[in-house]
Amino acid sequence: MATTRRHSKYTEAVKYSLARAGHATNAQLADDLRRNYPHLSDTTVHRITQRLIEDGLAQYAPHAVDGAMVFDANTTAHDHFECAKCGMLRDIVVPDPVRDALGASINDCTLDGPLKIIGTCRDCMS
Ligand SMILES: [Zn+2]
Ligand SMILES: [Zn+2]
Repeated sequence: MATTRRHSKYTEAVKYSLARAGHATNAQLADDLRRNYPHLSDTTVHRITQRLIEDGLAQYAPHAVDGAMVFDANTTAHDHFECAKCGMLRDIVVPDPVRDALGASINDCTLDGPLKIIGTCRDCMS
């Protein structure tokens, strides 16, 4: 498809930018990429991230504090720590015994999805 070919350099750039950031919204990716590609439109970034999701090259992270969609370069199953003050998102893995203890505390529910732990990051504490 001609459209795909036209945008392929952008696709690589979006993938690279997301990989470097770890987690990013479309707006953050667009801001980052427009330093090199001033004409890159929000629509193009949106299409490319949608495609990355469809192709399994990225997944959704928890929504940003302002509700924006966040894309995650890490496509393995993992949990997140989110700073409630600055929105910093970090990959974590909640150990199984902790999941089990949490599940037991919620009427023996099974926690088989990703978890998001909310707190305050070190930068925001100081
Ligand atoms: Zn913070
Ligand atoms: Zn993540």
